[in-house]
Amino acid sequence: MDLNSPIFKRIRVKREPEPLPSATRCDHPGCEVTGEFRAPKGRLREGQYFCFCLDHVKEYNASYNYFRGMTDDDVAKYQKEAVVGHRPTWNMGVNRGGKGHREEGVEPDAFVDPMGIFRNRTPGGADAQPRRPRYGLAATKALNTLGLDETADAETIKARYKDWVKKLHPDANGGDRSLEDRLREIIQAYKVLKSAKLA
Ligand SMILES: [Zn+2]
Repeated sequence: MDLNSPIFKRIRVKREPEPLPSATRCDHPGCEVTGEFRAPKGRLREGQYFCFCLDHVKEYNASYNYFRGMTDDDVAKYQKEAVVGHRPTWNMGVNRGGKGHREEGVEPDAFVDPMGIFRNRTPGGADAQPRRPRYGLAATKALNTLGLDETADAETIKARYKDWVKKLHPDANGGDRSLEDRLREIIQAYKVLKSAKLA
């Protein structure tokens, strides 16, 4: 047998099992596990689903953000309309001769939220405050690249970043450079978050 034949080399280099067809693979970037759990894609993509493995469907559900992809202004507008829609008589007259300016649409307990749309999707649902967009589009995108949303604190961002680098680095993949683009995205996203003082 010729051990130096190109065919033999190719076989030897291949360390990982064939990836599953994309239809059944987990939609989480870089995850090779079967995606057997469905998760809704969200606003304007009703009826569309991601397929995740158990770990990633849990993670997705914990960070699910209905407003993903909307600008801060859009979210504020949506909230304002929701306020008007749900409670037409909301705070009528409160401002008259009152305590001065009150920002519309961000009053914590001013309206009923039967769908739970504005509640933070934190695990356990402990935080019932209305969700407020805190970040600009670039930071939000960067968080999404890391698989996080605006509820992530600096510690979480750092930890997630380290996880990704560990997972995607060629050294951790037997020299496989096919994940480099994804790694570059992760690093770029982390830089954005760092310069926004979020990480
Ligand atoms: Zn997965």
